[in-house]
Amino acid sequence: MTQLIFEKSISGMTGVTITDETVDVNTLGIKEKFLRKEEPELPQVSELEVMRHFKELSDKNFCVESGFYPLGSCTMKYNPKVNEYLASLDGFTNLHPHQSDEDAQGALELMYKLQEALKEITGMSAITLQGSAGAHGELCGMMIVKHYFKSKNETQRTNVVVPDSAHGTNPASAGMCGFNILKVNSNEKGQVDINHLEQIFEENKGTIAAIMLTNPNTLGLFEENILKISQIAHNDGALLYYDGANLNAILGITNPKVMGFDIVHLNLHKTFSTPHGGGGPGAGPVGVVEKLKEFLPVPVITYDGKKYSRNYNLKNTIGKIKEFYGNFGVLIKAYAYILMRGNTLKQASQDAVLNANYLKEKLKEYYELPYDYTCMHEFVLSGDKQKADGVHTLEIAKRLMDFKFHPPTVYFPLIVSEALMIEPTESENKKRLDDFANAMIDIAKEVKENPQNVLSAPHNTPVKRVDETNAARHLDLRYKKD
Ligand SMILES: *Cc1c(COP(=O)(O)O)cnc(C)c1O
Repeated sequence: MTQLIFEKSISGMTGVTITDETVDVNTLGIKEKFLRKEEPELPQVSELEVMRHFKELSDKNFCVESGFYPLGSCTMKYNPKVNEYLASLDGFTNLHPHQSDEDAQGALELMYKLQEALKEITGMSAITLQGSAGAHGELCGMMIVKHYFKSKNETQRTNVVVPDSAHGTNPASAGMCGFNILKVNSNEKGQVDINHLEQIFEENKGTIAAIMLTNPNTLGLFEENILKISQIAHNDGALLYYDGANLNAILGITNPKVMGFDIVHLNLHKTFSTPHGGGGPGAGPVGVVEKLKEFLPVPVITYDGKKYSRNYNLKNTIGKIKEFYGNFGVLIKAYAYILMRGNTLKQASQDAVLNANYLKEKLKEYYELPYDYTCMHEFVLSGDKQKADGVHTLEIAKRLMDFKFHPPTVYFPLIVSEALMIEPTESENKKRLDDFANAMIDIAKEVKENPQNVLSAPHNTPVKRVDETNAARHLDLRYKKD
């Protein structure tokens, strides 16, 4: 068990040597009543021990630099280190958000050009960079939907249609905006059931504000009837919202505008290379078509040919959704990534799709593939065969950790039982994919021959099984000294 740094404390040890003993806290102008009466109980450790402590902790962590991370729907791709260098340049990190436009031309130019690049990629007419995550972008998009219909006096549009395969944030975001959720079923091909969709629009004529969709959907399958879906929505006067958290499959190949969408959010921290996990920071820009431009949050960044400015002057703006201008560091990394790839962005998507199909074909003999079609950037297996032998998907995921692979996303999407959602991304080479496939195949064999070994996994990780429910329900992060 790792000791806490407090437990490594040895009285009298110190990490710094302050030779100037003339510093008197009283000369710093702190009032007597604010001064400590007792010494703080800080750990007393040398610099070397502090470094060892944090190195030890980081060694226990798993990240994309440690190994393959096929976390479906979460796009754990390679994040070029040059992005980090660029985001940490003095000119960016020392800028104050209240500085004048004149002082911040470089930063505003970067944001403007990122907006332009994202317009090109999505086909949208205008972009806000404010959202700080995918779900935050969704909320922003749904607020735009709400304001749009309010401005048209169509407040009876209180419903939002969401497929049964949707990411949980979609119904949650629409719900937070006060919309009622109507669930549309998937058909036997894992795509939106058009008959059911038509029926929903028939039964709720004129009261549907939007459909929220992701394409490719969460099964990693392309919705072939997307143009029909957009026609059904638009004929009724509803808007089409695109969950673009994972644009990894379609960059430079198609875009949401071509598919008929009106609003899009993107996850820069998935598709555009900012590292994530552990809670951020991320960025969830939102793009809209021409008729929704005036509803974006303020400010948007504009350029008059001479000067970049923060524009607060949008007629129907929903207001602000985040302080200042978004997570600027993430914007820098996304811009760097887009510039670096240039015309080869499309290649990233093609490679991501190729890698996913390669793995799918290697694994489908050993695991059930409920929707056996050519996939996009990810695919979903079912552990039903293994479950019949007494081993659940959760245990397969735990066993994978013994092979030094991060488990795929499990139990999502909800329409696949014992789901294993695998997304290799474009970053991985064939050797890595083969190693992963072999580990999955070994586990499938082990389920038959020695299931106990899978059931008791993981065997060689620093932490074994944790009580996830208890950890979530009774979160206790406080250190109590005995
Ligand atoms: C990750 C994801 C989201 C939510 O993004 P966050 O940044 O985690 O809020 C929404 N939809 C899909 C399809 C996603 O994969």
